[in-house]
Amino acid sequence: MDICLIAAEGARYRHEDVRLGKPLFPPLGLMTVAALTPPEHTIAIVDESVEAADPRMESELIGLTAMTAAAPRAYDLADRYRARHIPVVMGGMHASALPEEALRHVDAVVVGEAEGLWPQVLDDARGGGLQPLYRGDSFPPASSIPPARRDLIEAEGYTAKYVMQATRGCPFACSFCTVSTFFGRVLRTRPIDDILAEAAQLGGEPVTLVDDNIMGCPEFANEFFARWADTGKTFWSQASTTMLKTPELIAKAARAGCKALFVGFESISQAQLARIGKRFNPIERYDELVKRLHDAGIAVVGSFMFGLDGDDRDVFERTADFAERAEIDIGQFSILTPLPGTRLYHELESAGRIVDRDWSHYNGAHVTFEPVGMTADALESGFHWIYERFYSMRSIARRVGKRITPLVWGVNMIYNRRVAHWLAGLREQPS
Ligand code: SF4
Repeated sequence: MDICLIAAEGARYRHEDVRLGKPLFPPLGLMTVAALTPPEHTIAIVDESVEAADPRMESELIGLTAMTAAAPRAYDLADRYRARHIPVVMGGMHASALPEEALRHVDAVVVGEAEGLWPQVLDDARGGGLQPLYRGDSFPPASSIPPARRDLIEAEGYTAKYVMQATRGCPFACSFCTVSTFFGRVLRTRPIDDILAEAAQLGGEPVTLVDDNIMGCPEFANEFFARWADTGKTFWSQASTTMLKTPELIAKAARAGCKALFVGFESISQAQLARIGKRFNPIERYDELVKRLHDAGIAVVGSFMFGLDGDDRDVFERTADFAERAEIDIGQFSILTPLPGTRLYHELESAGRIVDRDWSHYNGAHVTFEPVGMTADALESGFHWIYERFYSMRSIARRVGKRITPLVWGVNMIYNRRVAHWLAGLREQPS
């Protein structure tokens, strides 16, 4: 069959809208699905963050994926392809959370991870017998993750051209997060030989390990960092604040080539953290964590969210003060978003607090629920305010002035130049 895999583009999640001049990451999920496709099929990938999919394209099967904010676009595309009698299969986080909704637009939904399911989907599609739902009985072993098909995308079109995954899942279950629902709470680790073999195919630029918690299994991280060090490649990844319990791993990550870690601080209030299931974040040790990472030569990409129950109008200024004092290198701010499939969604839904069901607004930049500590307008304008303050020249100088590296300085300057334009675009969007 001729198959086309499409990553639908909606309002990009959180600060990716700033675009850094290019889309941030290549579509690793689709590159992995492509790698699972038997060679008798021909396959292409269209990433709509680079180019819009052509609704008149010829294909024998369309495979769609979309984050929640892109679901309306994915459904629109699906409707058009199916009107031309091209079967459409949809996977990814949103369709997995709401398969019945997706099935109003597509022929089949793959719930969860594609490994173990995709070959069956293709066999059924070839025989004209697609089932509506494909759902695995368990999470597939990480050893079944193939090297991604990088030959199907133009790596140069992305800011972080090399993305890979070493692990899947996260041992925690924060209420707003889709990771443990989609990938499970048992961290599955790929065989290190497989990871290194895939890394060996990449060029010399930094690798982004899009793992949700690269130190979530300390034993694995210990061996992984030791062996990755031999590749000579630098990398970025994500880790939870629980790395404070294993400071030796921070040093080891740095020696292995880690240049930046994304850390979900989320809130500077312990009470709010408890409400979102992130009690394990110790706010009294945030400064120490940032200092430890900086001392090891690792930049900190800090994530913070607003609109949590208990947040008031002052939360933006308090958070900005903390981020500047702690010298957070790069900040990602978002409005709490009840993504379908999360515990937060069910909590707000059952309390009757979800007020906006336009999925295109579920990108971390819009208020979609009724906040309690401030009005929706105050929440949205506070979100805009903190981006403007954090990426002002004054704040950049305070935060990164002492430790200028080309990477961190470059990212801050791009934000400084683009953030006003991005926020103006958000203000103009219909609500
Ligand atoms: S620690 Fe991070 S990845 Fe894990 S559940 Fe919480 S937010 Fe999600």
